Amino acid sequence: MSLFPAEYLEARSRYRAFMDEHVYPNETAIEREDNDALALLAELREQAREAGLWAPHVPPEAGGTGLGFLYYACLNEEIGRSSYAQLVFGCQAPDAGNAEILHLFGTDDQKEQFLRPLVAGEMRSFFAMTEPDVAGSDPTLLQTRAVRDGDDWVIDGHKWFSSGADGAGFAVVFAISDPDGEPHRRGTMILVPADTEGVDVVRPVPVMGHAGRGWNTHCEVRFTGVRVPIANTLGGEGEAFRLAQKRLGPGRIHHVMRWLGQMQRAFELMCRYANGREAFGGPLAEKGTVQNWVADSAAEIQACRLLTMDAARKIDEGSEARVEVALLKVYAANVLVEVIDRAIQVHGARGLTDETPLARMAMNARAARIYDGPDEVHRMTAARRILRSYRDGEGWTFS
Ligand SMILES: Cc1cc2nc3c(=O)[nH]c(=O)nc-3n(C[C@H](O)[C@H](O)[C@H](O)COP(=O)(O)OP(=O)(O)OC[C@H]3O[C@@H](n4cnc5c(N)ncnc54)[C@H](O)[C@@H]3O)c2cc1C
Repeated sequence: MSLFPAEYLEARSRYRAFMDEHVYPNETAIEREDNDALALLAELREQAREAGLWAPHVPPEAGGTGLGFLYYACLNEEIGRSSYAQLVFGCQAPDAGNAEILHLFGTDDQKEQFLRPLVAGEMRSFFAMTEPDVAGSDPTLLQTRAVRDGDDWVIDGHKWFSSGADGAGFAVVFAISDPDGEPHRRGTMILVPADTEGVDVVRPVPVMGHAGRGWNTHCEVRFTGVRVPIANTLGGEGEAFRLAQKRLGPGRIHHVMRWLGQMQRAFELMCRYANGREAFGGPLAEKGTVQNWVADSAAEIQACRLLTMDAARKIDEGSEARVEVALLKVYAANVLVEVIDRAIQVHGARGLTDETPLARMAMNARAARIYDGPDEVHRMTAARRILRSYRDGEGWTFS
């Protein structure tokens, strides 16, 4: 019996059919990131929309086809297998997280100006929080300032790792609006159209040798005297920390869902190759070390799936599941890195070439232990909450 309801599996099979027909055969062409790749992506996005597979992370009232987190987890075991598929189906990070907070906290005007075109795939967005000069793990240190001037905010600051900023239509900027306020009330999130004077997307920062283009970039961005109306405040002044939690919680579990697809793909490649490649008198599959890797990977992947489903179900039931998501994010990021690494090792030199997707998967995977909060910080926050529950006399329940 499957872990997912039959109707979710039926939906997933439609995504699988689309991936088989349109995404996997075009992966190499898309990854060239040239003009042909952009045209191809636009075509595939249109086909996904026509097939009724668009924006499965948001509900129909926000312009998508989603049915909640558990449903989305089920689909992502397929969508997550190919790194560009999230863009094809209109559910890519960071737009998905930005759509989520606009849906929850945006005013009617903000929804019309930013959310509608975002979910419709007419524009992309970026999330500008991390700064080069202070530790991103501790957002109370952020330095980007937003100062009120009449009916406007004036923003000055220096961000980096703004994913997808190249060619995006607008930014969600995390700025300090009340530097003397209580640390977690100092920040405000502000919607900034990318063509506003003073917004400078300086460069895509090369990450492990890859600078990228368009959506697949992590950019340095400067905001110099950027003036936008106070009406562009998202969710209220001083609310940035609360919104960031709301945004990053679902964002983290979305990442993990995609990693489930990546891990399973690496696992399959490892098993197939181990059965076919011979050395020292027999297939690699008969070597004890390889068998250990297969067994450990199978157990760890299934543990990640179960942790994901548990957290997704709790979120669907209205909980923030903060401990569950934090633990899941750390555990899954490490399993992801490890399983891909084992698959590469089984492939020998071929594992490092572009003849398999593994090398690119490994490059993307390493960042998983850092973005949306490094391992150490999630361990710290989860452990603190668990320990506090014992201090308060309740204790942690494995529900
Ligand atoms: C591929 C990628 C995409 C990203 N996209 C975005 C984006 O779109 N928007 C955005 O705003 N940011 C983005 N980021 C930035 C990311 O969220 C930050 O890198 C992350 O929050 C960590 O901040 P930092 O890099 O400043 O590291 P720092 O905060 O300087 O931390 C450095 C290291 O210190 C250690 N450390 C920190 N705190 C503790 C602790 N309490 N205990 C023990 N060790 C600790 C950890 O090992 C950590 O890796 C992205 C990053 C990557 C790699």
